Amino acid sequence: MVSTRRTSMNVDRREKHWKNDPKWQCILAKASDQSQTIHGDVVIHSYQSRQDPYFTSSYFFETERGVVLVDTQIYYSAAQELWDAIKSKTSGNIFAIINTHAHPDHYFGNMLFRKVAPNATIITSAGVLADMHATAAQRVAKTRKEWGDEVPSNPADLVYPDFGFERTLTLAFDKITLELKEVGPAEAPVQVVGWIPQHRALIAADILQNKQHHYFSDRTTANWYRILQEFSEMNPRFVLTGHQGIAGKELIEETKHWFATFLGLMSDVAPRDVDPENIDTIDAKSRSYVVSEMQRRFPDWFDPYYYEGKTVLEQCIDGHRSEQIGAQVLAALGSKAG
Ligand SMILES: [Zn+2]
Repeated sequence: MVSTRRTSMNVDRREKHWKNDPKWQCILAKASDQSQTIHGDVVIHSYQSRQDPYFTSSYFFETERGVVLVDTQIYYSAAQELWDAIKSKTSGNIFAIINTHAHPDHYFGNMLFRKVAPNATIITSAGVLADMHATAAQRVAKTRKEWGDEVPSNPADLVYPDFGFERTLTLAFDKITLELKEVGPAEAPVQVVGWIPQHRALIAADILQNKQHHYFSDRTTANWYRILQEFSEMNPRFVLTGHQGIAGKELIEETKHWFATFLGLMSDVAPRDVDPENIDTIDAKSRSYVVSEMQRRFPDWFDPYYYEGKTVLEQCIDGHRSEQIGAQVLAALGSKAG
């Protein structure tokens, strides 16, 4: 056995170093004593990753046709834990799997579920499916570099949804209905959101994260906010978020404050004649000001480790990322539709 030694010169990020972060540990402890189940004729269960840095959430419920699962995790270890949870809480007979969007933490786990549930149909929207195909190779390379053996090394090993629906799809069972709809751009260029009328439960993909700073691209804010307004008008009882589980509808308004705060800070530092969303126009000092102020003003929101030694906020604001490929897909879809 060769042991890996960590030195300041050579930190192996694949050692799950974030598990040593007291803030991460605190959220993990909170998750284990929180009830993350919606009760009723049909019980909705949740699984929240204890493996990745950002607490990716999956949801599942039993129907007369079998189990419906929403999102399949990124890490092999988390997908396995999710599968164990499904087996312990349901029949274990999976009927359908929904992938909300093309980010790895929501669909790489399809690989495991195809093996353990070969008859399950994997579903997403046409736009998300196109986004997956366009970005998979880049995402596999990027995640493999950061997460090593917890993720696939070959894009050809990924399991894609069996079909992508156009605009909306309703899955109607005896006691529960799942109304799916493609929306975007927001956290991803396109994503599937779900509505369960029996529970007034909104499956929000990563458009909502439960008090966790958002991964965002430039120039998506206005549309993202518009979708949040639609969410408010739906008046859900529960919001099933992409990270850190189930929240109440007040999270929608709090998320609007998050965007308003970001734009306010940007307005402090960006020139008056440019779009206040345009991070390209502000210097490094201004970027670190925006990051630290976002963290200070949302002290109960978690800024998880993301990539290359940076947190999500640092990566999005300081490092300025733009979802180039996804944006190109979206543009291509737009021109195809138009
Ligand atoms: Zn996402």
